[in-house]
Amino acid sequence: MPELPEVETTRRALLATLQGRRILRLVVREPRLRQPIPARLSRQLAGTRIETLERRAKYLLLRTAAGSALIHLGMSGSLRTPAPASPPAPHDHYDLILDNGCCVRYRDPRRFGLLLWAGRHPERHPLLRSIGPEPFSDRFTGEYLHTISRTRSASVKSLLMNAHVVAGIGNIYANEALYRAAIHPHRPARRIGHARYTVLAAAVRAVLAEAIEAGGTTLRDFHFGAGNTGYFRIQLDVYDHAGDPCPRCKTPLRRLVIAQRASYFCPRCQH
Ligand code: ZN
Repeated sequence: MPELPEVETTRRALLATLQGRRILRLVVREPRLRQPIPARLSRQLAGTRIETLERRAKYLLLRTAAGSALIHLGMSGSLRTPAPASPPAPHDHYDLILDNGCCVRYRDPRRFGLLLWAGRHPERHPLLRSIGPEPFSDRFTGEYLHTISRTRSASVKSLLMNAHVVAGIGNIYANEALYRAAIHPHRPARRIGHARYTVLAAAVRAVLAEAIEAGGTTLRDFHFGAGNTGYFRIQLDVYDHAGDPCPRCKTPLRRLVIAQRASYFCPRCQH
């Protein structure tokens, strides 16, 4: 499943292709995604100029002069720029045709993705309006995590993966950030002090930044955010390493499944 780093890499890779171009038309071959692609979207996008491509959590926002389209890659979606006139493959559900002849093509075998109209104020769209701060924003600090966690009984890992608290931190990155911050994933969030939350906020940003950087160097050939490429090849210290020695202290790492999500941690370093 494309995570925040994969979506951000997709955004960076496509920005130069899209920015400033006019959309000639949207060609929809299969509208049945997680929600149907609205029938009038083709008309809304045709002829508009693309101002920019932004990211909010794991959503891409295609900002045009007429309003914004909201794109989500779902479980297996990817955007690519095929060679001109290359025929669509199975699972290529829509094309954005640009005024210079370029095409941005969406592929999604499992069809959990989204393409929706979000109007002039996409931040008010129901899918976006209650999402917490971006991990790279100034709002996401140790102070913020400390304050928001005082009244919560959930574990710190649940807190990190709660999209209302912070945008777009998936299971892998939550596990890795907690390991770096030496915090046990199941520790109650309200029992962690300010200083440790400051370390954790920095660890979250570091893990995500490394993954974004790795994405920029490992993905190639205009094939972005694909579900089938798996995770970026960042150094994963704990995720999927149950039984392996902890990189810091050599204690065997453990795996515990809580609420259907696997936690990987060092029982000695993390407390
Ligand atoms: Zn350890």
